[in-house]
Amino acid sequence: MQENIIIAASEKQSHRCSMVQSTWQQQLSHAIRDPQSLCKRLGLSSDWLAGAQAGHELFDVCVPEAYLNRIAYADIDDPLLRQVLPLGEEALMPHGYVVDPLEEADHQPAKGLIHKYAGRVLLIASPNCAINCRYCFRRHFPYSDNSPSRAQWQEALDYLRSDTTIHEAILSGGDPLAASDRQLAWLVEQLESIPHLKRLRIHTRLPVVIPDRVDDALLGWLSATRLQKVVVLHINHTNEIDQTVMDACARLKQAGATILNQSVLLRDVNDDVTSLATLSERLFEAGILPYYLHVLDPVQGAAHFDVSDEEARELVTALRDLLPGFLMPRLVREIPGKGSKTPL
Ligand SMILES: *Cc1c(COP(=O)(O)O)cnc(C)c1O
Ligand code: SF4
Repeated sequence: MQENIIIAASEKQSHRCSMVQSTWQQQLSHAIRDPQSLCKRLGLSSDWLAGAQAGHELFDVCVPEAYLNRIAYADIDDPLLRQVLPLGEEALMPHGYVVDPLEEADHQPAKGLIHKYAGRVLLIASPNCAINCRYCFRRHFPYSDNSPSRAQWQEALDYLRSDTTIHEAILSGGDPLAASDRQLAWLVEQLESIPHLKRLRIHTRLPVVIPDRVDDALLGWLSATRLQKVVVLHINHTNEIDQTVMDACARLKQAGATILNQSVLLRDVNDDVTSLATLSERLFEAGILPYYLHVLDPVQGAAHFDVSDEEARELVTALRDLLPGFLMPRLVREIPGKGSKTPL
């Protein structure tokens, strides 16, 4: 009898879930965060588990269901799976692969603020991400030192106020949209009170990973600001753009944002001309312009994603024969100490 009641209750629950959309926070808190669950959910053979466990110990697994939905079942070669499944190779330590490849630790005049480039600064608005990408150059970032509270933002805000050459604030992370809308609305309000700031740029993968992140609360503060808005998404493969992502982009555009995309050139994810051409075409369908194609930063644990400079140049040359100029991403590398990205 009691069993029946429990079943009835859980049926009611699952019925409710399909009726009422869960919030992005709920989706994030239900993300898969261990290798066993990931392999099980995607029907991967147990052969992958030991490697996944080893990689997970270096950098945690994190993949929300909305992203898992776009990964093929039981296909180890899926280009989205490769971005999130830890492999044993992550424990390798080839020469030249380091913990802080961009040497960002040297450019922090205030807590949570990185000023490397003329006219613009990066603000670490949230230490968290909604997904852990295996090739991430911040996989070893000391985030606990870099998630300022409101009081601690004052130093960064004073720095911005005092340097009238800064016209653009770039919210970064982690993923800045992993912060609460209350926190973000407050920060943006502080920023827009600085007269020489013209632009707000947001570097985020959240609208791709959990498209429901682009909700009314976010659109509220984004639409309201006087600052010009640029959202730079991070999409590496066409399969990441489904209808839910298209809809999220349409909402961002309605709020007045220009949407750009940066990709990372990744071995066995997008290192062929067809993948790159299809991605650019699909981005434009979603209202997004291709911006950067980064070569991999040499971060420890990601060497198996590397594509050589020579191959990267050949790919981009072949791509130019297929695409209109406005769909061509700029092939760049980040070189520590340089005042801009370096074209290859
Ligand atoms: C890439 C980057 C920027 C912005 O560079 P753009 O070339 O303007 O897109 C700013 N700060 C840091 C630390 C960066 O890595
Ligand atoms: S979302 Fe961006 S910052 Fe976060 S793990 Fe992926 S690449 Fe790194």
